[in-house]
Amino acid sequence: MKIKTIGVLTSGGDAPGMNAAIRAVVRTGIEDGITTYGISRGYEGLINGEFEKLNARSVSGILQRGGTVLKTARSDRFKEKEYRDRAMKMCSVFGIEALVVIGGDGSFRGALDFLREGMKCIVIPATIDNDISCSEYCIGYDTALNTALSAIDKLRDTAYSHERVTVIEVMGRHAGYIAINDGIAGGADAIVIPEMEYNFQHDIIKPIMEGRNRGKRDHCIVIAEGVGDTVNIAKEIENTTGIRTVCTILGYIQRGGSPMARDRVVASKMGFKAVEVLNEGRFNRAICQRDNKIVDIDIEEALKMEKASFDYDMNLARVLAM
Ligand code: ADP
Repeated sequence: MKIKTIGVLTSGGDAPGMNAAIRAVVRTGIEDGITTYGISRGYEGLINGEFEKLNARSVSGILQRGGTVLKTARSDRFKEKEYRDRAMKMCSVFGIEALVVIGGDGSFRGALDFLREGMKCIVIPATIDNDISCSEYCIGYDTALNTALSAIDKLRDTAYSHERVTVIEVMGRHAGYIAINDGIAGGADAIVIPEMEYNFQHDIIKPIMEGRNRGKRDHCIVIAEGVGDTVNIAKEIENTTGIRTVCTILGYIQRGGSPMARDRVVASKMGFKAVEVLNEGRFNRAICQRDNKIVDIDIEEALKMEKASFDYDMNLARVLAM
C-alpha cells in the first residue's frame, strides 16, 4: 500500500547540507502526494512527539544555510527499548508510516533498532566525518574540507613568514578523512590519522628536517582529532627540531557555514531518492553514493561494510610533500 505520511529528522552531529536534504524530502513528497512531518531534535523529538507538518514554503530559503532547521540532538534515551516504544506510539498518533533519518553512523544504528521494532526507515548519510563505509560520500564533508583547507592555507602563510612549524588538528571523530584529504590539498609535510600507526621520528621529524635542509621555510602537519594527542605532538616537534611550533585546533568552525555546491547537490539527490525508494515500496534502505551514482542498499548490510584502506593516499601525500 502506498505510503501517505512520513516523518523526517536530523540526528547526531549537524552537517552543512542537511537542510537541502530536508527540503528535497518535503518537496518530493508533495509531488507524490505524501504528507511530511518535520521532527525536531532528532530521536529526542521523536520520543517527545515534537512533530510539525511541513509544506513547500516551510522549507523555503534553507538550501543555502548550514546546520539543520529541524535542530539535532544526541539521545541516550533512544537506545532504550522503553523510549523507542514511546516514539513508536507518537508515530502512530500522527499516522507516520515511515521515517527518513538524516545523520551519521550512530543515527543509522538508531534507525536499525527502530526498524527492528516495526517502523519503516530510510537513512541518508550526513556527517562531516565522511565515515559511513557504505557511501563514497556523506553530506557535509566537502564543506568541512573546504572550511578546514582555508584555515590551513592561512596558517601556512604565517608559518612561512616566521619559518615555523604549524600543527593543525582537524575534525573527523574516529576517522581520518578530513585529515588525509586536507593534508593532500594543503600540502602537509605529514598527516597523522587514527587508522594508521605512525613513527614520530620517521614520519614527522624526518620530513620536517629534510625539508628544512632543502630550504623549506614552513612545515605543516595535519592531525586528525581521533589521534587524541595533538598538543603533545606539537610540543615534541618543537623540543626535537628546535623549530618554533604553533598548534591550532580548528574545532567546531568546521561544522558550520553555507554548504558548498557538492553538498547541496548530493543532499538534493539523496532526499529525492529517499522518497522515490519509499514510493517504490522498498523499506529499510540506506541511500548511498556508489560508483558516483545515488543508490539504495539494505541498512543492516550498509552498517556491516568496511572502510577502504588509506595506504595509497598516505603514500601519495608523502611523495608530494617533498
Ligand atoms: P551520528 O549520527 O552523527 O554518528 P551519534 O553517534 O551521536 O551521531 O548518534 C546519534 C544518535 O543516534 C544517538 O544520540 C542515539 O540516539 C542514536 N544511536 C546511536 N547509536 C545507537 C544504537 N546503537 N542504538 C540506538 N540508537 C542509537
